[in-house]
Amino acid sequence: SFRSERQEKLFGTTRDQVLFDVSLKVPKGTCLGILGESGSGKSTLGRVICGLLKPDSGELKIHGTSVYASRSGRKNLQKRLGVVFQDYTTSANPRFRVKEIIAEGLSARERNQKVRLNRIEETNHLLELVGLNASYADRYPHELSGGQLQRVCIARAVACQPEIILFDEAISSLDAHTQVQIMDLLRELKEKLGLTYIFITHDLTSVTYLCDDVLFLYHGRITEHIPVSHIAETKDEYAKKLLASMI
Ligand code: ATP
Ligand code: MG
Repeated sequence: SFRSERQEKLFGTTRDQVLFDVSLKVPKGTCLGILGESGSGKSTLGRVICGLLKPDSGELKIHGTSVYASRSGRKNLQKRLGVVFQDYTTSANPRFRVKEIIAEGLSARERNQKVRLNRIEETNHLLELVGLNASYADRYPHELSGGQLQRVCIARAVACQPEIILFDEAISSLDAHTQVQIMDLLRELKEKLGLTYIFITHDLTSVTYLCDDVLFLYHGRITEHIPVSHIAETKDEYAKKLLASMI
């Protein structure tokens, strides 16, 4: 399981505190949705969770082992957690071919360049896994549609054989049909590989489609953390507002 305890994040002075006493737990094999309006601290929490940002106080544990207490803790996290960000157009190096982008993911596990290159045939397998055929391996990002490129970024995340994948607005900028296709893909991968997901979004529909539990973040505080099936009975004002805006 994945556990994040009493996280706080301050940028600059205390007046800029972004996260307040944020605690959450993600059991293995489940998907947690993190919902909140723009500026509520979702990405900051995501960056703390994926090891990019050390919290000012609190703990992050993976299978009971602390992440920020030591270098090995952070390495352990890097091995076990993959990330997919919203801005796939910039997160994929424009000078890299698809196979090289995916090899970046492989490199998180395999430091030896030679071994890595030998594993390039794995790329085709990974492409297939995300619904693209091998002919895409030699293309550059600008030769792909947004949805295709996002699939490549998912393949890169899966390449490091993670146990957990963190998505930050990973499908928000795609059209509705492509969003559903990618979500179906994510469900399939989750089943097949036994993955745990943390899914950051401001879109309630995708949370109800994909997630087991949902957490509402409002001005850096968790206001509600409930199973998605209980979402209609929420007492949280912000959650109610979001629900109302859907109809
Ligand atoms: P969005 O839905 O727009 O992506 P978000 O919920 O992901 O929003 P964050 O990106 O976590 O929000 O930002 C939360 C707050 O922290 C914002 O007020 C933002 O300006 C601030 N913030 C984020 N990163 C930094 C930083 N590096 N330095 C200072 N302030 C920051
Ligand atoms: Mg964000």
